[in-house]
Amino acid sequence: MPKKEDLLIENLKKHFGFDKFKGTQEAIIQNILAENDTFVLMPTGGGKSLCYQLPAILMEGTAIVISPLIALMKNQVDAMRNFSEEDGVAHFLNSSLNKAAIEQVKADVVSGKTKLLYVAPESLTKDDNIDFLHHIKVSFYAIDEAHCISEWGHDFRPEYRRIRPIINEIGQRPIIALTATATPKVQHDIQKSLGMLGAMVFKSSFNRENLYYEVRSKTDNVDKDIIKYIKSQQGKSGIVYCLSRKKVEEFAEILRANNINALAYHAGLDASTRAENQDSFLMEKVDVIVATIAFGMGIDKPDVRYVIHYDMPKSLEGYYQETGRAGRDGGEGKCVAFYSYKDLQKLEKFMQGKPVAEQEIGKQLLLETAAYAETALCRRVVLLHYFGEKYNQQNCGNCDNCINPKKLVEAQDLLLTAIEAVMALKEKFKTEYVINILRGKETSEIETYGHQELDAFGSGEGTDEDTWNAVIKQALIAGYLDKDIENYGLLKVTKKGKDFLKKPVSFKIAQDADEEDEEDDDVII
Ligand code: ADP
Ligand code: ZN
Repeated sequence: MPKKEDLLIENLKKHFGFDKFKGTQEAIIQNILAENDTFVLMPTGGGKSLCYQLPAILMEGTAIVISPLIALMKNQVDAMRNFSEEDGVAHFLNSSLNKAAIEQVKADVVSGKTKLLYVAPESLTKDDNIDFLHHIKVSFYAIDEAHCISEWGHDFRPEYRRIRPIINEIGQRPIIALTATATPKVQHDIQKSLGMLGAMVFKSSFNRENLYYEVRSKTDNVDKDIIKYIKSQQGKSGIVYCLSRKKVEEFAEILRANNINALAYHAGLDASTRAENQDSFLMEKVDVIVATIAFGMGIDKPDVRYVIHYDMPKSLEGYYQETGRAGRDGGEGKCVAFYSYKDLQKLEKFMQGKPVAEQEIGKQLLLETAAYAETALCRRVVLLHYFGEKYNQQNCGNCDNCINPKKLVEAQDLLLTAIEAVMALKEKFKTEYVINILRGKETSEIETYGHQELDAFGSGEGTDEDTWNAVIKQALIAGYLDKDIENYGLLKVTKKGKDFLKKPVSFKIAQDADEEDEEDDDVII
């Protein structure tokens, strides 16, 4: 009799055409076959789907796969069908099906043909679906894109919160949760919400060695800078991410005016234009896609050579996912982000009016993004730290900070002066006001309050406004100061800040490398 492992390999070959498992796939599959709850944290492209598809085929009954996007579901089911000689081995159940199609799916499931049934969370909450699933034999539940359960994830979906109670109604079976989001907070949320704190956790490394990370400061010349960059990458495929649909369209237009073969992609375009533009990119009829984050989920173009962020995303998680679309084949992948602190402040402003808890989360995520953008440390170290992973090399040799280390200057005295000013103002004013106090500017507002009489007034006269902005920004990032969300962003001194007043420690800030603006006449804006 063949050994168990050989049997798995045999089935891997038979059903998927692969000769060996990737990474931890085999251990994961063994764990599922043993009917244990399983948690899989693997970066995009790691091969998550196979981890539940193969055991589903081998086990008795039907695996219920919960997946957030109809398009993703369809891709997966098509891929499964390509490999299977028999009809109906994989089906999906969602709002795109008509009545007759639903009856066919149900008949196949009942007859035992269907090994994988993909269900959207909205469909899972429908009473007749729950009733139907209650009466079939379920092998296990797979929750794909499980980070959608967490508000700390980059794609929170409230319906995901209902998964566990519904599973209880349908009937208890092992759960396998899968995600490419691995921040410790999200991981904990997922396990808690799915009631699988005791699950066996399989976490792969999130390091993408082949990706080069760089952050440039975003100036008024950003359009020119990006055009130049793209021109230096001739013949290669790239993605430019912008936050707004309007910007996407404008910038695609600008690129075309500069003889760059580019198309736009965002959720506001009609479905056929979107599909056409996506296909043109996949088939290499265009070099560049200018897109919002709507572009990417489920798209597997292996040779994207660069990902540019015109705007910094709202979270580092999003940044990691978006840059992750470069170099999926293991080849070159350059990730260049154009960063301006003002952009993040704008994003923070947009959150006003949302529930306070949501604002707090949003603010924290933005701060982490700023910290990444402004760090003088290895970008890889910072990114991996965010995923709870320690990177053991001092110098990765593949990020801007490792290749061109930034100059650091001691700013302990400046921080002391700034914190004292915030305290003297009884923590009731915003950054701009505090800086005016420090610089001794007699604005009418300052006069109204009589603050020109304070000792703090003019205490930082000799230092320019940009430097003060940098000090306060980096003090926020380092947690010496905080902004009070409930009170219009007034600056507060944290406990760490108060400790610093008593016992100052070294506080170094990175000097912004001033980029020279070269005139470049052949760029059309
Ligand atoms: P993820 O969902 O983690 O992003 P996928 O499941 O889409 O990853 O798999 C990524 C790619 O790796 C797919 O093209 C898939 O066919 C391929 N793949 C998965 N497992 C193996 C394997 N054992 N050997 C070779 N290729 C594999
Ligand atoms: Zn580095």
